Amino acid sequence: MNIHEYQAKKLFEKYGIPCPKGAATSSADEFEACIDSIEGDFVVVKSQIHAGGRGKGTFTNGYKGGVKLAKSKAEALEYANAMLGNTLVTIQTGPAGREVQTIYFTEGADIEKEYYLAILMDRATSAPVVVASTEGGVDIETVAEETPEKIFKQVVDPAIGLQAHQARKIAFQLGFEGKQAGACAKLIFNLYKMFWETDADMIEVNPMISTKDGGVSALDAKVGFDSNALYRQKEVVSYRDLNEEDSKEIEASKFDLNYIALDGNIACLVNGAGLAMATMDIINHVGGSAANFLDVGGGATAEQVTAAFKIILSDENVKGILVNIFGGIMQCDIIAEGIITAAKAVNLDKPLVVRLEGTNVEAGKKLLAESGIDLIAADDLPDAAKKIVETVAAAN
Ligand code: GDP
Ligand code: MG
Repeated sequence: MNIHEYQAKKLFEKYGIPCPKGAATSSADEFEACIDSIEGDFVVVKSQIHAGGRGKGTFTNGYKGGVKLAKSKAEALEYANAMLGNTLVTIQTGPAGREVQTIYFTEGADIEKEYYLAILMDRATSAPVVVASTEGGVDIETVAEETPEKIFKQVVDPAIGLQAHQARKIAFQLGFEGKQAGACAKLIFNLYKMFWETDADMIEVNPMISTKDGGVSALDAKVGFDSNALYRQKEVVSYRDLNEEDSKEIEASKFDLNYIALDGNIACLVNGAGLAMATMDIINHVGGSAANFLDVGGGATAEQVTAAFKIILSDENVKGILVNIFGGIMQCDIIAEGIITAAKAVNLDKPLVVRLEGTNVEAGKKLLAESGIDLIAADDLPDAAKKIVETVAAAN
């Protein structure tokens, strides 16, 4: 789960991570009060969406820049009014963009130099890793490709946490000296504390800046959390913004379904995450593309399967459905009953291919065959993938 920059900055303040003061609002009526609360000569006006690259983004109406530096109150008002309610497209939003529903005003920082700082989970070492670079404010992927020597990493032993000497090492690698190195190390140390205690899976500060008065500050914040840990993160959950999430994914989460919307046209309904991945791969292998990832779990009920069908069918890109069930603990006849109940409960007007295998498979197939539902039975997974891809291709 992701949160907005202004929410992340609240957590930063709580953890003693220096960042510019700011005020956020979703109402144009409050713009003036927010701007008046900002000290200093400059006000930064920042569109709040769950995507980076806002500064270089363009709104669908042609207006340029989702992050702007205003030199006067009038200018700040003008920028905020131009951004609120409009759709911002950045390299991270995809072509459809995101509607800006909140504006964040911050104090303008006097930047000496921009750096990159992030903490994330490193899959290779199964441990948190601090990543830092002297090249901040730019696309870190480009830095990694063109000048990898400018990226520094410290893997953290999760049992003992980030050590002070590791934080100092990064500060020195970034070129800081004296008191400023101390300030940078402290920022990194506190950032790790926040990462750990909030069950974050990524905190990206791009840019972290050095200021001319010898300080450091987190100018931007992109933070994501491990969804499996949300049950113990009340504050984080209170920051959830459903406007930023796919409505189908929200619906799926209500039924404990692991669903992720994709942009293909063949929906899949599978039990087990590994099997769901394999199903998507094989659809791709035979020339199709998956409309979603969906794992209904090992013990799916008829209610869950029905909800899954409804979610799949609410996706207008879907042209066909592949159900791939392996009855292990779950018996095929129970699953077949779920499919039948679901198919009758929803208006199933798309081709449906079903592959069942495992415990009680014959009973399951018999139930499906006698149900009167218009479906294509498949013998195995390659056969199922081929049948759905061919049927969809023939119909379109
Ligand atoms: P992003 O484009 O979504 O990554 O949004 P950022 O918050 O990183 O802002 C984009 C860029 O605007 C930053 O990389 C900075 O160069 C610039 N910027 C943001 N805040 C300030 C500020 O307070 N002062 C100055 N001078 N520039 C800023
Ligand atoms: Mg940024």
